[in-house]
Amino acid sequence: MHPIEQLLYFSSVLLHVIIASNPILAIYQLNFAGFGAVVGHIGFDKIEIGEAAGFDSHAYAHYLHHKYFEVNYADGLVPLDKLFGTWHDGTAEGEARMNGRYEKRQARVNAVRAGGPTL
Ligand SMILES: [Zn+2]
Repeated sequence: MHPIEQLLYFSSVLLHVIIASNPILAIYQLNFAGFGAVVGHIGFDKIEIGEAAGFDSHAYAHYLHHKYFEVNYADGLVPLDKLFGTWHDGTAEGEARMNGRYEKRQARVNAVRAGGPTL
């Protein structure tokens, strides 16, 4: 995580300064923010507990972000990736859209290197 992103991410606890609340809630929120990122980076969409129990981690979209880097910048709560065309859901269609964007960008870079129009 970029240091500025980290500062903004953890500054959400300052909400407890504006809205007076129990310090335990602020400590809980800091712990949730800090350790919640662990679950988001394990790369498994479901965590199984025993034979029949488990819970969804919803980490697969973020796993794809780290795998390809240029997809799934947001966590899906706000559909910015769908708006900007960077959403990848792990399907072959998502893969094709990502490769199409990469090929377009590579063609622009090659055109600039060949002395064509600037980006
Ligand atoms: Zn991450």
